[in-house]
Amino acid sequence: MPMLKPDDLTEITPDLVRDLNRETLERLALQVVDLALHLANRLNLNSSTSSCPASSDDPYRRQAARAKAKTDKERDRGDGGDEGPSGAATVVPLEKPPAKPPGKRPGMAGHWRSQPIVATGEVDHAPVHCALCGQALEMVDRHHVDSAHHVYDLERGDMALSVVCRKHRYFAARCACGHETVARPAEGKGSTSEGRKRDLVLTERSLVGPMLATFIAALAKRFRHSRAKVQEFLRDWRGLELSVATINRCVHEFGLASEPVVEDLITELQQAEVLHLDETPWYQTGVLLWLWVATSRTVVVFRIGSRSKGDLVAMIGEGFLGWLVSDGYRAYRDHPRRQRCLAHLIRKAVALATGFYRNGSQFGGEVARDLRALIKAVADGADGERVKRLISRLKWGCQCHQYETEEKVRALAREILNDWDAVIAFVNNPNLPPTNNDAERALRHAVIARRLSFGTRTDEGSRFYAAGLSVIETCRKRGVDVWNYVRDLITAARAGLPHPPIPTAVPVS
Ligand SMILES: [Zn+2]
Repeated sequence: MPMLKPDDLTEITPDLVRDLNRETLERLALQVVDLALHLANRLNLNSSTSSCPASSDDPYRRQAARAKAKTDKERDRGDGGDEGPSGAATVVPLEKPPAKPPGKRPGMAGHWRSQPIVATGEVDHAPVHCALCGQALEMVDRHHVDSAHHVYDLERGDMALSVVCRKHRYFAARCACGHETVARPAEGKGSTSEGRKRDLVLTERSLVGPMLATFIAALAKRFRHSRAKVQEFLRDWRGLELSVATINRCVHEFGLASEPVVEDLITELQQAEVLHLDETPWYQTGVLLWLWVATSRTVVVFRIGSRSKGDLVAMIGEGFLGWLVSDGYRAYRDHPRRQRCLAHLIRKAVALATGFYRNGSQFGGEVARDLRALIKAVADGADGERVKRLISRLKWGCQCHQYETEEKVRALAREILNDWDAVIAFVNNPNLPPTNNDAERALRHAVIARRLSFGTRTDEGSRFYAAGLSVIETCRKRGVDVWNYVRDLITAARAGLPHPPIPTAVPVS
């Protein structure tokens, strides 16, 4: 019997009902009951009964009211489309990229720096060896300043933050052999992005010093401020005027400098004993992509890409031998050593228990109770008999309900049975956590950032965002001072030197 659609209901008028014979009327009544149950169950979904993030819950149930308003609006428009109650559908992608490119229109007057630069000190850079004969050069060999530029930087004291401005002077020096060697600001690697007028190059010739660039990156990436808000903050609280482009450049420098670090982190990740994996929708100029996260005890790596197996392999490699802790997404399914996230299954079971199902509600309650009891029994080190009893009861319950007429009930029973080994893997492996909370916690920050910013705009931006976040979260996981590390990272990258490895301190968790 096909299920009625909400739109069909509007066609059922009193006259139509009066003219129906008894048999048709009965069939219609049953169809209406089915639809009503289906809708009642949909209304019942929230973060404790589905994968919706907690941030989407509203204490005053305004969410339900909003969903209804949205459905009504769509019906009025005539498309009646509804993406369903999953977390993915609550984020509305940008409808269209802006027609005009961002930035100044051709022919319009530009903005220039109005704040005069006042240097409080000087830093001299002189060549140490002759470029031709290699002989050491002395102070007396310096004969003129070849170039100079100002650098704003942040001094980070115990209880103080102050902005200083120094003039960096680069000297030329003449050797006894007659050759003149000139000191120049170093350059690191660069990055190109389609449609951008100037390539990004890491260089010491920068108005913003490494610590200030780190501070700007922290405000943007960790504290989720827009470029405009960072600009406002620096102007209002530090009396420092920087353009949005300069601020954007600092954020991108951090991303570019982080990329080689992430390559090291991925190598470390592939040797981990237990890996947590999760993914969430991400938007790049309104196009749906996925933000993946993989965490081990000491490493967190993010990646923005498609939801295919290829993106998974790019993170954990083909030959990963450890345990995967994940939800039920099929890309994970081929891995032989796997633990299913039981929190996901408990949420689905609670949805059945608190939902409007005929036989399913009791089954849902039993599955939730048994899974919780199993987690507790294993954590408490309960005796093998009790654990065995819980496992057989869970399996028996699922076997009894795998041919249930109600679809959701049948689906949960089959899901557990089909993935049985992964559901109970943690029972025999004391190192294996029964939930994927580690990866879900790691994604929370990015999910909030997505809601604020609607994602990223370019491939480069997506790469840099994921790389920067990987460095920040790995440092935090290891209890390492994130921002001193990032300052050293940017300093090395601008000088074209190899990146410093992230220290392996004792993990915080
Ligand atoms: Zn020389």
